[in-house]
Amino acid sequence: MSAHAELDSDLHRTALDQLDRVAKRLDLDPDLHERLRYPRRALVVSIPIRRDDGRTDVFLGYRVHHNTVLGPTKGGVRYAPDVSLGEVTALAMLMSWKSALMGLPYGGAKGGVRCDPHDLSPREREHVTRRYTAEIMPLIGPDLDIPAPDLGTDEQVMAWMMDTYSMMKGRAVPGVVTGKPLLVGGSFGRREATGRGVVHILHHAAQRLGRKLPGRRVIVQGFGNVGSVTARLLAQDGCLVVGLGDINGALWNAHGLDIRALDRHVAEAGTVVGFRGADPLLSAELLAQPCDILIPAATGSQIRGDNADAVKARLVVEAANGPTTPEADVILAERGVTVVPDILANSGGVVVSYFEWVQGLQQYFWRETEITSRMQEIMTRAFNRVWAAALEEETDLRTAALMEGIRRVAEAYRVRGLYP
Ligand code: NAD
Repeated sequence: MSAHAELDSDLHRTALDQLDRVAKRLDLDPDLHERLRYPRRALVVSIPIRRDDGRTDVFLGYRVHHNTVLGPTKGGVRYAPDVSLGEVTALAMLMSWKSALMGLPYGGAKGGVRCDPHDLSPREREHVTRRYTAEIMPLIGPDLDIPAPDLGTDEQVMAWMMDTYSMMKGRAVPGVVTGKPLLVGGSFGRREATGRGVVHILHHAAQRLGRKLPGRRVIVQGFGNVGSVTARLLAQDGCLVVGLGDINGALWNAHGLDIRALDRHVAEAGTVVGFRGADPLLSAELLAQPCDILIPAATGSQIRGDNADAVKARLVVEAANGPTTPEADVILAERGVTVVPDILANSGGVVVSYFEWVQGLQQYFWRETEITSRMQEIMTRAFNRVWAAALEEETDLRTAALMEGIRRVAEAYRVRGLYP
């Protein structure tokens, strides 16, 4: 049995496939390559909580550190019904390449709780968060591993995590998480960072491809933190957001959706479904609708071998982590579709998380304009390097981005040597 069998999941297969392919291309030392295929450490915890009706339910929680070779680890926490050890391990690996590509002093990490966040009352959500934090205490800390929001979690969850950790330490430790509310040490621009970064990278990609953005038809899958900010900014830039969906269903309006009105609808209804300014669409149909640009901003493995052929967009910008499987990558490449990979397109979140961490350590806080321009500077440099490498290596943007991220981590392993 392969040592990876217990981690088997769609996303883990994707992450290993990407690493193996790029390791071959980089002619990576086989021993180093083998080390990179494993997480440094992984913790599985049980989270018993008392439900509102008096029953006790037990959830499974995970925290995985992929590597600590460049510094403490960093990565989000997701609450979703299909979270698994394999998925979290894959996402931690992706965080390693992403942080290295951005030149941040972090290793990759990820965490999650297998639960349906919509099925939890606010009190239950708080209890899940506090118990999860208490259980993963040995693995987190400002100089050890710093969680952040991801799918199904938000500023409030980060505030509870920070509070739980701080109570156990007997002092305020804001630096244990990023993506906190401003009042308790959060950073301006963190909530919008990932969507803002996606749009920034999309501008660069469109420019290189010689396409103007105003009037372009865009489909966004996912209308949470990342998808909603991305859709709003693109509409402001003159794009027509013609299709949009969440876990409950999708919408279509060939003239472009009114994103502000949709924001108001979602604030009340909790879903995009039922919005009057558009026609309803089945979720499964969304990715196949006619458009110029497709932005997956929901969950992993959405563009697969069985539906990639139906994608009409000529440009896919990955706001989500791991939305495209390796089979789909091949199909899209054969059809001449440009894919801007997750570790480049959605890195605004980790870049501004890094700024939040630095500001907190220094107790000196920056203005929002400063934060956005520094984020854009880091992302622009990475974009230019990746674009140039893809041309030079005659490869796609994902391979070029992974090559730089993986090369940096591998080089740090090599120079640090093997303990003991
Ligand atoms: P979120 O929980 O705020 O929103 C997720 C959205 O996706 C919701 O609208 C949900 O209904 C929808 N969704 C979930 N599963 C779906 C499915 N199967 N089909 C269609 N829609 C579905 O999460 P988020 O923070 O916006 O994260 C979205 C993606 O972006 C994730 O892949 C996450 O890993 C990635 N990401 C997030 C950040 C960040 O800063 N939050 C940073 C980098 C990457």
